[in-house]
Amino acid sequence: MSGVAFAKLKLYLSTGKSKSEGVEPGMKYPPEPFKIKVVEHISRTTREEREAEMMKAGYNVFNIPAEKIYIDLLTDSGTSAMSDNQWAGMMLGDESYAGSRNYYHFERTIRDIFGFKHVIPTHQGRVAENLLFSTILHKGLVVPNNSHFDTTRANVEYNGGVAIDLVNEAAKDPNKILPFKGNIDLTKLAALIEKVGAEKIPLGMLTITNNSGGGQPVSMANIRGTSELLHRHGIPFFLDACRFAENAWFIKTRETGYADKSILEIANEMFSYADGCTMSAKKDGLVNMGGFIALNDDALAQKLTNRLILIEGFPTYGGLAGRDLEAIARGLVEVLDENYLAYRISQVARLGDRLEEAGVPFLKPTGGHAVYLDAKSFLPHIPQNQFPGIALIVELYLHAGIRAVEIGSLMFAQKDAETGVVRYPDLELVRLAIPRRVYTNSQMEYVGENIIEIFEARENLKGFELTYEAPVLRHFTARMKPVMV
Ligand SMILES: *Cc1c(COP(=O)(O)O)cnc(C)c1O
Repeated sequence: MSGVAFAKLKLYLSTGKSKSEGVEPGMKYPPEPFKIKVVEHISRTTREEREAEMMKAGYNVFNIPAEKIYIDLLTDSGTSAMSDNQWAGMMLGDESYAGSRNYYHFERTIRDIFGFKHVIPTHQGRVAENLLFSTILHKGLVVPNNSHFDTTRANVEYNGGVAIDLVNEAAKDPNKILPFKGNIDLTKLAALIEKVGAEKIPLGMLTITNNSGGGQPVSMANIRGTSELLHRHGIPFFLDACRFAENAWFIKTRETGYADKSILEIANEMFSYADGCTMSAKKDGLVNMGGFIALNDDALAQKLTNRLILIEGFPTYGGLAGRDLEAIARGLVEVLDENYLAYRISQVARLGDRLEEAGVPFLKPTGGHAVYLDAKSFLPHIPQNQFPGIALIVELYLHAGIRAVEIGSLMFAQKDAETGVVRYPDLELVRLAIPRRVYTNSQMEYVGENIIEIFEARENLKGFELTYEAPVLRHFTARMKPVMV
């Protein structure tokens, strides 16, 4: 990396605080800021039962019934525990077709936090993306982002656009510890605008935090810099805001000048640089379903609303029930609580710290919502064509009933249509995504201890081969078997 972006990163580094700075004594790992009112039973199965389930599932954990999972770290999306306050709000759902009071609460809350003029509800984040990109894109246009999330990329490409990832180079090294590894490389962004021309870029985006890049945060300086660069060329700027509160927490604790600002103030500033945002409320909305798009442009909002009526519903419900809108409005306020965010981010960091003590390789530093094990370093004896990530995921389940997801060759390896040569991804990752307010720290300790046990006996793990693969998105439905040697 070079130029502006590098100078800025150096600046952050010299001012970046270490993990335990700014934390009250005895509060390196703040405990849960809630007590439990309702419990949900989860089953411990025996190893024999898990082996049978795994065989039935064709060694693909997507095929295992959730009731047979002990700790489910497949995703942090839509898996949050709602609070008593949110459940109480559900009872106040006004299910009027038009003008539900919950919509006005939802709209007011989003305006207070995000500051945009128009608020359009959708039933999840990808519909916000679909509305936006089906309206503004046509063949030949280009959309830059730090890293497109997979649904964002799919919506850009399906609508004829080219999705370009411009995350900073240092982010690609799993061992490099930097405070803001989600930052876009502004030099590369400037070069892209120069190369394709501003008229070919209908908008630029930043994903906060950067989900595809390890849940790493983006700094305020980088958000501001991206905004200035895009706006200088007349290009609108949108944020993919799914984990905006987690990103704001990292800005507060790592970026100079923000320690004394509230999460709301930081969020207000982040969104003040943008023209709009897409959001999946299934993340920092602390709900199980919902999303929205918010923006300032009147004419564009009108077009999106007209399309919304076609695919989701009337503009004051957009595919959601009144009670869902109420739960989101309340969740968006709860997620700004610093005691919650301190606990949330430290729960993830704590798992990373335990793995670090035992020498288990993972992507560093831990991000906002997940720990990503580095399966290539964990299992160096399993070649990429035998799916080291899958070998680790299968053992996590067989050994401890834990479910994780592979982000490696099963998901991304691509066969060249002409030469038949397979291109493998740089990293073989196993993502342990941590649902919000769901698992206690003692359950997370169980996860850490079991990963360490697997690590200590890692030579015994074997690779896998495919017995069935679908032509697209094969990781969801693939079937496999262990390689016999
Ligand atoms: C989850 C997610 C989306 C899509 O949201 P859904 O609610 O799953 O449709 C988009 N972008 C990012 C960064 C996400 O994490």
